[in-house]
Amino acid sequence: MAGASVKVAVRVRPFNSREIGHNAKCVIQMQGNTTCISNPKQPKDGAKNFTFDYSYWSHTTPDDPGFTSQTQVYKDIGEEMLLHAFEGYNVCIFAYGQTGAGKSYTMMGKQEPGQEGIIPQLCEDLFQRTGENTDPDLTYSVEVSYMEIYCERVRDLLNPKSQGTLRVREHPILGPYVEDLSKLAVTGFTDIRDLMDAGNKARTVAATNMNETSSRSHAVFTIVFTQKRRDQMTSLDKSRNQKVSKISLVDLAGSEQSDSSGAKGTRLKEGANINKSLTTLGKVISALAEMSSKKRKSDFIPYRDSVLTWLLKENLGGNSRTAMIAALSPADINYEETLSTLRYADRAK
Ligand code: ADP
Repeated sequence: MAGASVKVAVRVRPFNSREIGHNAKCVIQMQGNTTCISNPKQPKDGAKNFTFDYSYWSHTTPDDPGFTSQTQVYKDIGEEMLLHAFEGYNVCIFAYGQTGAGKSYTMMGKQEPGQEGIIPQLCEDLFQRTGENTDPDLTYSVEVSYMEIYCERVRDLLNPKSQGTLRVREHPILGPYVEDLSKLAVTGFTDIRDLMDAGNKARTVAATNMNETSSRSHAVFTIVFTQKRRDQMTSLDKSRNQKVSKISLVDLAGSEQSDSSGAKGTRLKEGANINKSLTTLGKVISALAEMSSKKRKSDFIPYRDSVLTWLLKENLGGNSRTAMIAALSPADINYEETLSTLRYADRAK
């Protein structure tokens, strides 16, 4: 079905040392699924409320009763998307937000108990579920790819030797794809973990004034999950016996405006390109959300306006399910960026 609604969550992280050093005040409050942001310059009447599918609090310590664990975020969002993949849908989960707001923590997390993000938990759960299959006629295969989109160019993170940029092409049936992108068959979670670790090391990072290791590129981890049923009735129609789902897990580049991160020259150009993908992604998601709520008659979706949305075409519209997690800083010093993240998330609903 076209344009099923997007599941939208926001997640606030604890103060970081820079914010503590600046004696920052918390401008975010959450109650149920509502997030309230107050304007530090107008504390009395500058508050704005936004309602999402989930508002995740983690501002103080893990002992705080409102603290949302990595496991809970996975249960609410990752598991639901994985179940859709088992049903045969393409799915996409992406993390949006300012650099340092918690995108990588949410998607990748840390390799410590209870700290793993959505991607490792989803991969582990996928193999757990396929391992429990007792139906001899049903078999599974899993292939992964990992790429980075930087300044509208695609780089293979699983093949660091392929120095150059890969071409984006379009298959008449399967849609847009990256030519020569490595697609590796995996049979267990440790295979995926090793590939992800290697890919993360290969990822382009450049310092900005916001954060020394801020990532200026979008990282797209894709799992192609195939379920094959042994042909019982010698059907000629292969598609009836096979379900292929593409699971795209995307850690977007920082959404900050280039001027607020002190960017100049190359950095400014990067900012423009990154913002182009993010702006187009926002337009695509809102157009899909409007279509699903019938607020919009036209079904034109501007996928082609950026490489990111073009490659995610099959994971965003049509036969797909999408979730977005917007990562927020709690601090007054990031008020403008946080408000713009909340507005972006609000348009996706
Ligand atoms: P981004 O990917 O948006 O640039 P990171 O995910 O790297 O940001 O987060 C910045 C820092 O904040 C990291 O040290 C990360 O561990 C920490 N952090 C982010 N979100 C949370 C959270 N929900 N709970 C605890 N720590 C977090």
